[in-house]
Amino acid sequence: MKPMKKTVLISFVMLLAFSIFLAGCGGSSTQPTAAKDEIPADIKAIKDRGVFKAGVKVDVPKFGYKDPKTGNVEGFEIDLVKALAKKILDDENKIELTGTVAKTRGPLLDNGDVDVVLATFTITEERKNSYNFSDPYYTDGVALMVKKASGAQGLKDLAGKKIGVAQSSTSRKAIQEAADQQGIKVSFLEFGTYAEVKAALDSGRVDCFSVDAAILFGYLDDSTIILGERFAPQEYGAATKKSNTALTKLVNDTLNDMKQSGEIDKLLAKWGLK
Ligand code: GLU
Repeated sequence: MKPMKKTVLISFVMLLAFSIFLAGCGGSSTQPTAAKDEIPADIKAIKDRGVFKAGVKVDVPKFGYKDPKTGNVEGFEIDLVKALAKKILDDENKIELTGTVAKTRGPLLDNGDVDVVLATFTITEERKNSYNFSDPYYTDGVALMVKKASGAQGLKDLAGKKIGVAQSSTSRKAIQEAADQQGIKVSFLEFGTYAEVKAALDSGRVDCFSVDAAILFGYLDDSTIILGERFAPQEYGAATKKSNTALTKLVNDTLNDMKQSGEIDKLLAKWGLK
């Protein structure tokens, strides 16, 4: 073989080898992309099930309230659930709602009965040890409901009185701190549900029903009044199970996108919460 031809052949072989090497690199570099596109297990479970499950309130007007006439549960937090279902399942109607009270919210998440809790759930340092919370989407204050006939006008008028609160709620701590600040003594009775606290107020077992103002509005009637004071601002967040890290991120990102785009403001206006 002539030296010239030999050089051409060697160059060709080297070029071929280099091309094979490049193709190999290309092949391995597509690997991580494929892994990145894989749907995380916690989101996949929802997609496979085809329904997004949420724990919500059914007795809090404007947040989560079951209309006794239609049987439909509606409110600001329900619209947030729908927005999340739209994001995950591309259909806001693919939702399953479970009614909660303060003490059932955690267990529903623990047992995997719901994917998310959007139920006037106050973000606290203690609860953050057990659940993931989104950034806050609303802030409410703790308030006091009394019988109109009692003539009470503020916390100071409840010195020596019994306050009814729900188990596992933040209300007791909030009012205890406010009472300490005002230098008055109050005592507490705890109940499982808000309906029970209201019944205790009606029957005179307690002198006051205390919880977030929004919740009290669901129980207001002709014989009762909600006093003007507000205590301990309560920041509401969407809670997810600690192990569901991808879902937690998706929930938080979606709610934050809705804040940025003004969608949250629109919903707050829709429900008269602005
Ligand atoms: N928001 C308060 C809490 O999370 C009051 C209780 C309730 O939301 O039911 O403890």
